[in-house]
Amino acid sequence: MRVAMIGTGYVGLVSGACFADFGHQVVCVDKDAGKIAALERGVMPIYEPGLEDLVANNVKAGRLSFATALAEPVQNADAVFIAVGTPSRRGDGHADLSYVYAAAREIAASLSGYTVVVTKSTVPVGTGDEVERVIREARPDADFAVVSNPEFLREGAAISDFKRPDRIVVGTEDPRAREVMAELYRPLYLNAAPLLYTQRRTSELIKYAANAFLAMKITFINEIADLCEQVGANVQEVARGIGLDNRIGSKFLHAGPGYGGSCFPKDTQALVKTAQDAGVPLRIVETVVAVNDVRKRAMARKVIAALGGAPRGRTAAVLGLTFKPNTDDMRDSPALAIVTALEDAGVTVRAFDPEGMEHARALLPNVTYCEGPYQAAEGADVLVIVTEWDAFRALDFARLKTIMNQPALVDLRNIYRPDDVAKAGFTYTCVGRV
Ligand code: NAD
Repeated sequence: MRVAMIGTGYVGLVSGACFADFGHQVVCVDKDAGKIAALERGVMPIYEPGLEDLVANNVKAGRLSFATALAEPVQNADAVFIAVGTPSRRGDGHADLSYVYAAAREIAASLSGYTVVVTKSTVPVGTGDEVERVIREARPDADFAVVSNPEFLREGAAISDFKRPDRIVVGTEDPRAREVMAELYRPLYLNAAPLLYTQRRTSELIKYAANAFLAMKITFINEIADLCEQVGANVQEVARGIGLDNRIGSKFLHAGPGYGGSCFPKDTQALVKTAQDAGVPLRIVETVVAVNDVRKRAMARKVIAALGGAPRGRTAAVLGLTFKPNTDDMRDSPALAIVTALEDAGVTVRAFDPEGMEHARALLPNVTYCEGPYQAAEGADVLVIVTEWDAFRALDFARLKTIMNQPALVDLRNIYRPDDVAKAGFTYTCVGRV
């Protein structure tokens, strides 16, 4: 199959490279000329484990190429994927669909022969109808179908998620489009990944319902963690105790500083808006959004407490800035709110993140960026683990003790055992364990 991938970000680049790896002929298009120029030099515009090799192999095999203009790739394509961003719209929290509709208009102009236009971006219910209308209006003569095919990959494990998905959701009632989608994903369902065909609107909603459910699971265990702290229980054991029940499942039950990233915050908000507009407010999701919002700054209060309640003029060393390990994505990272709250309280912040510092510099300009955890810890009054990168899992506490101003650790990901930290002579603050 010949594929045009419009939008070469976290989703578009990974999906495009994986489709090429399946044997399809893929052109990844992005209007950001810098990104395309970098890719043509073999430089990845994002950090994602395994991506550089996957891209290089498929470029070399002649199955993957890059372009800034979509006309030719779209003209030649059996399937055109829209994988552009759908951020929160400023002011009201609805999904901003301007990039999607702009792409649809551009695609319309170049359609030739039967083409399946696939919305891979996360888009609210009904967006597929509007994409279809936009294309139909511009090109009444065109032979096309608009399909919803939401993406469920996780940054940091994106390639294996794309190649070994729990399910592939395809929203279309057009039999020709089904055939094209089945052919595109054939290598995967040979591996027994279920291909779930639904109506387009149902498919669009599946993506939001999935993200809202996961965000709810995280928020649930975070509130249970707060309760654990008050009543003297251990949230990790509670999570294990409930997670062993198959109806609940053990994943997404790690208490921490609140969910962040490029999807959960914006998608939960957009779902809340969709539901309100439909006259069926989703009270649970509304509460999840509100609870998570206040949690991030509450984490800064834990740090301030670890500083004896006297933050002004003190120094915090923050380890981990990205919203999770193995990505350079800083979008809506809890670190943004935590660091800002600390700075608001008069704390000087030194920080280290293995991949996120380049993006972080623009978002947190007052932070002193360091070359490693020990440089960050120099002269600090407290060490704060915000993101659980592997590099922070076996810190040398004896060394830290000699370089820090005082031995205090705030571990917002519960990656250490309280006894071990105490033995090393540190005061220890974590989440939901006493
Ligand atoms: P991104 O911001 O990394 O990439 C989007 C890219 O689209 C950018 O490079 C931008 O320059 C390009 N673009 C915008 N308009 C264009 C146009 N008209 N023509 C060509 N290129 C254009 O975004 P992302 O993280 O890859 O997310 C894309 C979509 O996938 C979003 O809807 C998101 O919600 C969804 N999604 C993301 C993830 C994730 O983990 N990042 C997971 C599942 C779903």
